[in-house]
Amino acid sequence: MLEAEPLTLLATNMLFLLAAALVWGGLGRVFLGSQRPALMLAVANALLAASLGCNSLRGVAWDLLTYWGANLMSIGAFALLRLAVPAAVGETPRWRPVALLMAAAAVVLAPIPSQSDWMPIANFSFMSLLIGLTAIDTWRRLRQRLKAGLALGLSSPLFLVAALLLLRLVQLLGGSGERIRDASTGNVAWLWAVLVMSLVLNATLAFMVLMRLILRIRRLTERDPLTDALNRRAFGELQAREQGELGRGRGYALVTLDVDHFKRLNDTLGHAAGDAALKHLVQVLQACLRDADQLGRLGGEEFGVLLPLSDQAGAICAAERMRTALAARPLRWEDKDWPLSASFGVAVASRADEGVDAVMLRADKALYRAKQAGRNRVEFG
Ligand code: GH3
Ligand code: MG
Ligand code: MG
Repeated sequence: MLEAEPLTLLATNMLFLLAAALVWGGLGRVFLGSQRPALMLAVANALLAASLGCNSLRGVAWDLLTYWGANLMSIGAFALLRLAVPAAVGETPRWRPVALLMAAAAVVLAPIPSQSDWMPIANFSFMSLLIGLTAIDTWRRLRQRLKAGLALGLSSPLFLVAALLLLRLVQLLGGSGERIRDASTGNVAWLWAVLVMSLVLNATLAFMVLMRLILRIRRLTERDPLTDALNRRAFGELQAREQGELGRGRGYALVTLDVDHFKRLNDTLGHAAGDAALKHLVQVLQACLRDADQLGRLGGEEFGVLLPLSDQAGAICAAERMRTALAARPLRWEDKDWPLSASFGVAVASRADEGVDAVMLRADKALYRAKQAGRNRVEFG
């Protein structure tokens, strides 16, 4: 019965890793933009399963495969994990240092005799180093976007795995060179630890990929695909939120703008140039705005700018800044400069306004007056 336990645990570990490999392989096809990390994780899980399988054949099969090969497979799995984590959060993984470390592992492990105690020690040193670096990296990256506590909480599973591997390394340094099939307490505990690590790593990575997917979907529902400005719905929601804050004494201003003679540009240069002009306009306007200001595309060549905590003078000043910046930055199209301008309408929200539409209507009326007065102007309504 005791003999069966490590074997059952070993089989459970391998089955779990293979199932995880299959799930990641399948999810890779579904997860938009996350195919690469999913594929890397599929291979990492498969490598760990293969490593355990080869490891358990020590003394039965070829030493080169069951020692050197098995160890390289497990180090390879952690190397893939090192690449998959940045890829899962949308960054470009740095292949070169990881490939170098992998090559170093292959060279360092090769001359160590199979039965030597140094073989597993070298193996665990490489694995701990890889997962330790991954954990530190993840924590640093998350800390830039989240609060320190949350960043640590989210990266803690990776630190836990690093700690477990280090613990095993210390155990091995102490000279317990048992085989993975042994029924000793130390080995059974280690096999449980491997199962926990596989679960924790896969769950953490699944969480990261899922978070990225949710953020991508949220961005897709909030942004205009051509210019990446907020779409009309998202802009309206933000305006409604600001309107709600009016009661608490926090005011806001709204600027609407419409590109002048845009039809002419479309007709002369074509629709592609019109699209490029809209993208250019958004870049120019964004550069004029504060972090708290929000730019949205209300439709066609009409945009809105939400200016929280702004009064009439501040809002007119912001609109003038946008107008002059746009007039000073023509569209570069087919090696020629094409002047661009827009007309602006400014309105300041007040508690007397019935709702967001009333403020929008005032800004639009002012914009209409700016058009009537000759375009490339700012009017207050
Ligand atoms: P005005 O100065 O009075 O605003 O003149 P205008 O030509 O800008 O006004 P009008 O409303 O007649 O023309 C707007 C044009 O914007 C018509 C439409 O084809 C074009 N348009 C709307 N959306 C897009 C778009 O996404 N891409 C491109 N290229 N053109 C667009
Ligand atoms: Mg127009
Ligand atoms: Mg228009």
